[in-house]
Amino acid sequence: MDWTKEALSELEKVPRFVRHMAKRAVEKAAREEGVEPVTPEIVLKTREKYFSLVGKDKEGEKKVTRIAVVRCHTVAEVCPGVGCLKAFSHRKLNFEEYGPDTELIGFFTCGGCSGRRVSRLVEKLLDHGLDMVHLSSCMCMNDDDYPRCPFKNQIKKAVEAKGVKVVEGTHH
Ligand code: SF4
Repeated sequence: MDWTKEALSELEKVPRFVRHMAKRAVEKAAREEGVEPVTPEIVLKTREKYFSLVGKDKEGEKKVTRIAVVRCHTVAEVCPGVGCLKAFSHRKLNFEEYGPDTELIGFFTCGGCSGRRVSRLVEKLLDHGLDMVHLSSCMCMNDDDYPRCPFKNQIKKAVEAKGVKVVEGTHH
């Protein structure tokens, strides 16, 4: 689908880790509205609806982004989570798009295969304004030397079903 130069500039403002998803959502919205090429207006509309990284504070209050990390229960036996927490503190790697007004409000394990705890804890965090859940990098690894999480997609869907965005990865 064709995009105007201005629309592409607007898309660049979407955080990198959700940009691909944003592009697809914008094109879907443009098709539904019969708009082509894609305009900045349709990007802004879609971005506001799906990809705004702002919190759910009341109008007029300072906007805060609230995130949580879910990590592998098995790996947590040997990992205190330093990599994830340091990456967040220093806004590195999968956290580099977040500004200073971002709070890590949850850091929990999945509860063991097949991630039985995730849905329940995300539900609790919604009461605290949760915007985004990161799946820890240990859940997302995909190489022969590391056992990958067989339930990653299921866990991801469980979070998204609560209306919360998911980012795959934390510190590598
Ligand atoms: S469901 Fe995945 S993340 Fe959770 S304990 Fe099992 S392998 Fe680890």
